[in-house]
Amino acid sequence: MSCWLQTKSWEEAKIAIEKSKGVAIIPVGSVEQHGLHLPVGTDTYVAMTLAEEAAGRTDAIVVPPVWFGWSPHHMVLPGTVTIRPEVLIELTYDIIKSLSEHGLKKIILINGHRIVNVVWMQICAQRAQTDLGVTIKIFDPAYMSKDIVGSLGFGPVGHAEEVETSHMMARYPDLVHLEKAVDNPIKDTPLYSVDPCYTHDTLCYVPSTLEHARHAAKVSGGCTGEPTKSDAEKGRIYHEHLVKNLVSVIQSLQ
Ligand SMILES: [Zn+2]
Repeated sequence: MSCWLQTKSWEEAKIAIEKSKGVAIIPVGSVEQHGLHLPVGTDTYVAMTLAEEAAGRTDAIVVPPVWFGWSPHHMVLPGTVTIRPEVLIELTYDIIKSLSEHGLKKIILINGHRIVNVVWMQICAQRAQTDLGVTIKIFDPAYMSKDIVGSLGFGPVGHAEEVETSHMMARYPDLVHLEKAVDNPIKDTPLYSVDPCYTHDTLCYVPSTLEHARHAAKVSGGCTGEPTKSDAEKGRIYHEHLVKNLVSVIQSLQ
């Protein structure tokens, strides 16, 4: 039986909610350019595949994803859709409110869009916890894989780089066109890196300027990092590690 809420009748949903022990996962991502080699839906796809796999091992319910994120810095390339963070907060709050009224009061927000979604998710989560009496966990793959990316030899977190490209190769190989990937190595930006593995990560992040985005568009089709170093087997190990961590978050709520 599928873990996706949208595939169920209301009767099936009622049974699934009981089985879930009140745990629902909302995958959240973005629709934004991901270089020449990955689809614009990459961030949502990675959140969906993690949700699907962990739910299959735990009976959590997976809610239809919030496909769009806040992506103003990627509007220089076609295919990107950006939603204002205040709208995302309201939308996600209403999803959580609806779920909570049906007994799903333990919610995991999987963030496929990295640092850019985290800030509005924190505001939404705080408000939902206070006003609705629900428990919210944010599951961010970049933070939840800190202990393994070094041993996999992945470089710093960029955009459409070897981390998410390897993950996509492992889970959605038909959507990856590695032969089109162009590297754009990341320059050291002490105090302003947004890589969770970097000990000087300060979280003082502001989405790139359009000028910076135009530069990346010109040199690499929009990617930053070294996607040509991607590897499906490393992506599989990375995925499995994240699923294991996500399962343990779900179990802590059940
Ligand atoms: Zn991405």
